[in-house]
Amino acid sequence: MRLWLQNILACPICKTHPLQLVVLKWGDVDSSLKGDELKKMILNDIEKRLISPPSIQNIIVVDENELLNEKVERFKTFFNDFTLEYEPEILMRKISSELEFIMDVMYRVNINKGVLKCPECKRWFPIGSSIDGIPEMLPDNLRDKIKDNKFISLWFDKLPGDLKKDIRLEC
Ligand SMILES: [Zn+2]
Repeated sequence: MRLWLQNILACPICKTHPLQLVVLKWGDVDSSLKGDELKKMILNDIEKRLISPPSIQNIIVVDENELLNEKVERFKTFFNDFTLEYEPEILMRKISSELEFIMDVMYRVNINKGVLKCPECKRWFPIGSSIDGIPEMLPDNLRDKIKDNKFISLWFDKLPGDLKKDIRLEC
């Protein structure tokens, strides 16, 4: 998935937004996406308030790709001044000088492996446990617990401490 998606994701069970996003492994950067189209997309998203600054502050990166991580830090800093109720005009004005950069981070970078975690009900959902980049946000009764546990146990040691506390490995 791309970072953009996190702006609109909510917990499928308790509907909480934003979710925490842990990037475990970055994927490729897709530079085939045209700037003009992305520009239209992001301005439209801002206007409709689909960009969720609190979501962006909930990104945690575990992958060690320094270049991408620096970009994400800069990305978070950029949105730091904004809340969910931002004025689209003000964000648009601020974003215009950083547009290329924001488009790169938000739309072009893939997350191959990751975890989405609900801060409210503490459920977690894997990204890329079956197919790289695909988040699996299933209700409890449809989850494959064995597969989920296998996935999280591979990455468990890398998770930040406060997440480890909530994400339990079942035996
Ligand atoms: Zn929830």
